[in-house]
Amino acid sequence: MARPQAKAARPTPRSAPRFVYAFGAGRTDGRAGMKELLGGKGANLAEMSRLGLPVPPGFTISTAVCTYYYAHGRTYPPALRAQVSDGLARVERALGRRFGDPANPLLVSVRSGARASMPGMMDTILNLGLNDRTVEGLIAQSGNARFAYDSYRRFVQMYGDVVLGLKPETKEEEDPFEVVLQAKKRARGVTLDTELDADALRELVAEFKALIRTRRGVDFPEEPQEQLWGAIGAVFGSWMNERAIVYRRLNEIPESWGTAVTVQAMVFGNMGPDSGTGVAFTRDAATGENVFYGEFLMNAQGEDVVAGTRTPLPLAELERENAAAYAELGKVRRTLERHYRDMMDIEFTIQQRRLYMLQCRVGKRTAFAAIRIAGDMVRERLISTDEAVLRVEPEQLNQLLRPIFDDGEKRAAVAERRQVARGLNAGPGAASGRVVFHADDAIAGAERGQPVILVRIETSPEDIGGMNAAQGILTARGGMTSHAALVARQMGKVCVAGCEPLEIDYRAREMRVAGRDLVIKEGDYLSLDGSTGEVFIGQIATTPSEVVRVLVDRSLAPADAPVYQLYAQLMKWADKARRLGVRANADQPDQCANAIAFGAEGVGLCRTEHMFFGEGKIEPVRAMILATTADERRAALAKLLPLQRADFDGIFREMGARPVTIRTLDPPLHEFLPQDEAGQREVADSLGMPLERVKARVAALHEFNPMLGFRGCRLGIVYPEITEMQARAIFEAAANVRRDGIRVEPEIMIPLVGHVKELERQADVVRRVAGEVMRETETRFRYLVGTMIEVPRGALTAHEIARVAEFFSFGTNDLTQTALGVSRDDAGRFLVPYVAEFAIYEHDPFESVDREGVGELMRIALEKGRRTSPKLKIGICGEHGGDPATIAFCDELGLDYVSCSPFRVPIARLAAARAALRRV
Ligand code: PEP
Ligand code: MG
Repeated sequence: MARPQAKAARPTPRSAPRFVYAFGAGRTDGRAGMKELLGGKGANLAEMSRLGLPVPPGFTISTAVCTYYYAHGRTYPPALRAQVSDGLARVERALGRRFGDPANPLLVSVRSGARASMPGMMDTILNLGLNDRTVEGLIAQSGNARFAYDSYRRFVQMYGDVVLGLKPETKEEEDPFEVVLQAKKRARGVTLDTELDADALRELVAEFKALIRTRRGVDFPEEPQEQLWGAIGAVFGSWMNERAIVYRRLNEIPESWGTAVTVQAMVFGNMGPDSGTGVAFTRDAATGENVFYGEFLMNAQGEDVVAGTRTPLPLAELERENAAAYAELGKVRRTLERHYRDMMDIEFTIQQRRLYMLQCRVGKRTAFAAIRIAGDMVRERLISTDEAVLRVEPEQLNQLLRPIFDDGEKRAAVAERRQVARGLNAGPGAASGRVVFHADDAIAGAERGQPVILVRIETSPEDIGGMNAAQGILTARGGMTSHAALVARQMGKVCVAGCEPLEIDYRAREMRVAGRDLVIKEGDYLSLDGSTGEVFIGQIATTPSEVVRVLVDRSLAPADAPVYQLYAQLMKWADKARRLGVRANADQPDQCANAIAFGAEGVGLCRTEHMFFGEGKIEPVRAMILATTADERRAALAKLLPLQRADFDGIFREMGARPVTIRTLDPPLHEFLPQDEAGQREVADSLGMPLERVKARVAALHEFNPMLGFRGCRLGIVYPEITEMQARAIFEAAANVRRDGIRVEPEIMIPLVGHVKELERQADVVRRVAGEVMRETETRFRYLVGTMIEVPRGALTAHEIARVAEFFSFGTNDLTQTALGVSRDDAGRFLVPYVAEFAIYEHDPFESVDREGVGELMRIALEKGRRTSPKLKIGICGEHGGDPATIAFCDELGLDYVSCSPFRVPIARLAAARAALRRV
């Protein structure tokens, strides 16, 4: 029979859902695969405990509580309190200490941790549980009053900031706690924090508490339980702080994920000279080299390393400080790499010579490091080539295609002694721009279209918007793992960190460089080499990346280009894995050459109207538009024919046997005619026409929304002679190159088709001309006639259109415009807040296909089209064709290929491979 007391004493009835997951000291509820529930930090702490690594015990409150918290007016599920008490009691038992016990207190850290890492964006509180009584216990435990009071003052400072909201109120104001700290140092005649003795620190605790009372009107809570719940609330609350929201938006992290909260027994890196703390990467996160890479500080807490307030030492020097801990750390490195089969980023603390692991996660890395590590790990047989493909984010490839400094200009800058300082090479690449000292000035500069370099003493998460807007970031303090360095690398920004000689004056908006007679003011030009850490005054031109130099400029041999070689290897693996074809949107032979260099398998869209902007072509086009009779139009078209034929000839020769989709004319006509009188007079004179006629024609062609007007096939239907001329130019060029043995197979594409009869009329013209050209030239060539699907009616009647079309290509630019009823030219005004502020669409629908709406039309068109014609070839050529998320959707739908701008082709190849690998 159950005893009533036992029942009452059981704090967690079986029926209550589990919100708290223990780890360490012999019991671990979670594991690495539970990131959704435990966040990355909680899940990996659990995994490290399972691996037998030295993890201080604790527990994680799941993300389900965060969801509940926001759904229920910032309150907790009723079962949580008892589960937290249980979790805490277990840690107390494991360590033989009690929370709030003045004789032998347990102190904890309270840390955030979402499913995806959001470095520094949310809040953390250390040393929790300290008060005027327990600090005595900590003195007894450590035998070190200075340490105990230092921990206490840090706790009051952190708690005051994070939980009680005592922060600087303007951008010029310094941290109020720092002001008090500086004053104390001055009063004591010392310069370093570490020179303050226990007495001074005890006074600081009281002064900090008084500051909180005056500035915030509340008392600092002495009661540890109250401290704990205040901290838990602040961490859940920090999920919705502004910087976390900005970070989520930039990194596409859904708000619905929420954060977990981890409560863990404290270990101290600041317990004296035999203690320390550090961060490390199991391989070099900037270059990918297989070396143990990290930084540490003795007698310090984690925040000292991450905040960049003291510049840390390279990890290799730890061997001298504590050989045993260094060796153990090396073992941890091997264990983690073998277990996770990836490069890991770890945080450790040494407390009185004993090593503890506080965090591990898959390490963020530059694109250079990503391709190198992936390649090395394939050779080390840690991962397969498919896994290597999944290890590199498609957008990251942009970094490999980024500019570096022009060699000559940089040498000249060095010769002119314009190199003024050197910091850490924290984010590779080259950047040149005007100096700004505040994040919002960086944003304003970027909005004016100005390249800017954001210069800060150190960055904090508040600066993230400005960092995103800047070309490059320069900081005076902080190491390779400081906030500036981590965030810049992840954003793919050029960054030089820890540039110590800089003396920055925010108020005067200028900086000096120690040892140089030099003042750099806001607005002056500065250039950063993020690969070497060099800082130059003035502008330095940038040149294309190594990959671009090998592939496009051909100014570098592949054998001399190690980054190119790694890129090429990854692309080979990607091509093996992908199902989707990748083509390029290109209108000129040189664009075609670039496209092939980047691995395009054909042209998916050649916009013929773009060809008319070239030298000597605009005039006959204008004559064609201004013609009032068919004869006049034919005369103008006759002049265009040889020009178009030569263009197509060039493209076919460049593309060889690869397919080329050529779209018949789709011009917004107004773009070809000047709207001002002077321009109109010029046109009239050059065409020998009265000005009045030009004016009248411009007026007649005026449309309120030209993007929904007399465009696309509508033009060719009303004036079939235009389509006829274009078809003739294409086929005559095809016959020409065919005679030279090039097996062209042009695909003629009719734009903006909504009704099968539109396509029928245009296809008839094209096929008739093809027959004529074959007879006249006595050659035979293959060709296809297909259509763009870019208006909803075309998608909905695709089964009829497929009777005539030999292929479809989704024009998702127009399909988005017409499906959403949103003009593609001027929707920015409300689409930006639609995405950023109101979250109506998760992404800009002109950048990433709106799956539910536009995507559904694509699905319908594909199904209906293939019902009529099962082998129908289907692609996409809207801007979305280079967007990784859209590419994944196209792969899922079963499209045959995607087509995008030449420089995005590598990104599309990698995205297509990853989509295919994820699908299986
Ligand atoms: C489209 O509409 O998606 C398309 C590719 O055509 P354009 O952008 O030229 O209208
Ligand atoms: Mg279009």
